[in-house]
Amino acid sequence: MNNKNHKLATKLIHAGVEPDPTTGAIMTPIYQTSTYVQAAPGDHKGYEYARTQNPTRTVLQNALAAIENGNHALCFGSGMAATDAVAKLLMPGDEVIVANDLYGGTYRIFTKVFANYGIKFDFIDMGNAENIRNYINSHTKMIWAETPTNPLLNIVDIEACAKIAKEHKLLLVVDNTFASPYLQNPLDWGADIVLHSATKYLGGHSDVVHGALIMKDAALEEKLRFIQNSCGAVPGPHDCWLVLRGIKTLHVRMQRHCENGEKIANYLRNHPKVGKVYWCGFADHPNHDVAKKQMRGFGGMISFTLKDDNIEAAMSVLKKTELFSLAESLGGVESLIGHPASMTHGSIPREERIKNGLVDSLIRLSVGIEDADDLIADLEQAIG
Ligand SMILES: *Cc1c(COP(=O)(O)O)cnc(C)c1O
Repeated sequence: MNNKNHKLATKLIHAGVEPDPTTGAIMTPIYQTSTYVQAAPGDHKGYEYARTQNPTRTVLQNALAAIENGNHALCFGSGMAATDAVAKLLMPGDEVIVANDLYGGTYRIFTKVFANYGIKFDFIDMGNAENIRNYINSHTKMIWAETPTNPLLNIVDIEACAKIAKEHKLLLVVDNTFASPYLQNPLDWGADIVLHSATKYLGGHSDVVHGALIMKDAALEEKLRFIQNSCGAVPGPHDCWLVLRGIKTLHVRMQRHCENGEKIANYLRNHPKVGKVYWCGFADHPNHDVAKKQMRGFGGMISFTLKDDNIEAAMSVLKKTELFSLAESLGGVESLIGHPASMTHGSIPREERIKNGLVDSLIRLSVGIEDADDLIADLEQAIG
């Protein structure tokens, strides 16, 4: 089914999904196969080899395109594989302008892998999108933004970036992992490509690693599909099925992530031992107006520092929480706590980190969908 007039909650359940043509199974089967029998060479049902196409993946791709208001989606074995595919649109000598507060793995693939192929990356503050103009030259091909950013929850104005990208014929890529399609649809604000680590909110149950790209433009989709098939970083059908299953409850989960996030952000802000709290729902967040414009809620990702700003104090909190499990990743039903400086962002040099506000005592929470009172009690006993 694919009805563009349906609202998100309906699309999440039905978009792209049809009863299985062979049995009528309401749930899309896991087509665990590597190849498809042909009646004669070239005489097949649209499926030849499973790196190129798989029916479980096709259904998920159609669903993802619908929920991000795109026309096409492509799935990958991880969020990083999706990033890798986008970067392969570039040629030696090309330049990319990247938001300086972003997922550590994205920073790593750009600086440690693609820089070796002669591609230049400028990491800049995109809090004011106009700053992008200072870095555009004749080699610039792409703008890469994450919003809200990881882990400082900065907000980038997608519409303003898209305007600059269009003026200079640059591709605007937005990593929408933190917001999920429930809170934000970057294509609606003019982005060319939306990237997801479906490992996070889309999958939602911490049981799969998966990535996706969504776009409107058919020519761009064809280039990226060529890379997907040529380079081969495709997900297996079981992983596609897990993501498809996850997105059916995205709206219900996100609603609770947002409610719990708000309660915990306010609790932390009033705690005498807590220093700065980063959450884009606060009215005095530097880009709160932009967040209000482009997002439908503020999510469950929160970072905070301690007034006693040292690594030992942070480590003590990390060791004491019980409901908040110490782990990398985010976006699952269970609450997680992490220390960006030594975990997700360990690959960014210390001076770079500190310069961008990612201090040693920073703690990041992925607030789950448990009872908010229990979560607050857990933080209370850990922070002391
Ligand atoms: C996790 C994450 C990625 C990378 O995705 P994987 O599925 O782990 O490869 C990219 N961007 C953001 C914002 C992430 O949180």
